Amino acid sequence: MKYDIIIIGGGAAGFFAAINAAELDPNAKILILERGKEVLTKVRISGGGRCNVTHAEFTPSELIKKYPRGEKELRGPFHSFMTGDTIAWFEERGIELKIEEDGRMFPVSDSSETIIDCFLSETQRLGIEILKNHSVQNITSENEQWLINTNNGDFSAEKLLVATGSNPKIWKLLEGLGHQMETAVPSLFTFNIKDERIKELPGVATFASVKIPEINMEDEGPLLITHWGLSGPAILKLSAWGARELNELSYKFEIQVNWLANQNSEEILEQLLELKLKHAKQQLTKYAQFDLPKRLWKSLVLASGISETDIWADINKKQLVTLSEQLTKSEFSVDGKSTFKEEFVTAGGIKLNEVNFKTFESKLQKNLYFAGEVLNIDAITGGFNFQNAWTGGYLAAKAMTSLD
Ligand SMILES: Cc1cc2nc3c(=O)[nH]c(=O)nc-3n(C[C@H](O)[C@H](O)[C@H](O)COP(=O)(O)OP(=O)(O)OC[C@H]3O[C@@H](n4cnc5c(N)ncnc54)[C@H](O)[C@@H]3O)c2cc1C
Repeated sequence: MKYDIIIIGGGAAGFFAAINAAELDPNAKILILERGKEVLTKVRISGGGRCNVTHAEFTPSELIKKYPRGEKELRGPFHSFMTGDTIAWFEERGIELKIEEDGRMFPVSDSSETIIDCFLSETQRLGIEILKNHSVQNITSENEQWLINTNNGDFSAEKLLVATGSNPKIWKLLEGLGHQMETAVPSLFTFNIKDERIKELPGVATFASVKIPEINMEDEGPLLITHWGLSGPAILKLSAWGARELNELSYKFEIQVNWLANQNSEEILEQLLELKLKHAKQQLTKYAQFDLPKRLWKSLVLASGISETDIWADINKKQLVTLSEQLTKSEFSVDGKSTFKEEFVTAGGIKLNEVNFKTFESKLQKNLYFAGEVLNIDAITGGFNFQNAWTGGYLAAKAMTSLD
């Protein structure tokens, strides 16, 4: 069975590419091959079932900073298709996106089904064929045609887009075509920590900065204490930027938390000495200081060797020094990681120097294109991973349907 374009993978990048290719060239015969019994499964569960479609960041030079892998390569593509284009694309199809306080964008329906319904009705309207339960087993080329063997039959096409995400089986086939792959490691995970100071505090959140001295990385943002350890944007960003290094450390390392983000221990000590004078007769644990959540403040006070009933006047300088250090450089031992259920990705995939980012075509094989997570591109949480899928899908579609 012969097609103009075959897309392997019925996920975000595959559908976006298929729909755009069909619109750009209505005569093109297009097929999506999907190994699962359903398409768009990740879109369905994305963003906790709400699908964080993109992010309200409209400057390419700022947007690329969200990609630990792909920062340099996505600069050009984002000048051609980025967040604003995504919003317009869905709007043209009757889907309005809303912006949340932190910049994440969701369909106003708050349901990923809205996105799936749109993709399915568009593929139907445009006559794109979708074959589920078709797992690609082999890819070869002959007489400028790609031959695709699946567990359910063979197909051929002049142009091939691989949009299979982080599926290692396909990676092997791509290696067979001469591509080199960066090995897969998880990104966007939370840190497992067992520690008395946070044991009783699940649900407590504050703005903090977190440092991993061993790999010389630091980030800041909202930090959330969970039953398993620490989570929230500050941790997720570190897990993405340090994905490879933390994997090499087998997820065992020390972190330093500054619960007061931008202030250092010397500044805090001075303020503690002032508080001692001001509130001499007051119990330390009675009122939280520095806008910290009360339960967290109390826990850090107790961890500094101060008892629950101690009043400020009773506290000596050494105890205040310890408290200033607990507040600004609390050390925790991380032992393992947990999955962040809202969004997680895999770092790794096709080496980026083997891809032409004007067209998303392979530099090694003519008429072979890639989009989405199959490339060694991934982002921090917030809708940026889908934006990579939309941008790559769109530019590959444009290239596959251009005449030259
Ligand atoms: C729980 C969760 C929530 C997420 N939430 C968000 C979010 O809200 N916002 C965001 O930006 N990102 C989110 N992400 C990340 C985002 O889902 C991915 O970055 C994105 O789906 C990548 O798209 P893709 O098309 O490259 O790959 P995928 O969506 O993984 O699609 C690849 C498709 O290829 C198929 N396939 C694989 N191998 C074969 C084969 N051999 N033959 C045929 N078909 C094959 C797979 O079955 C799959 O359907 C989330 C991820 C997870 C896991």
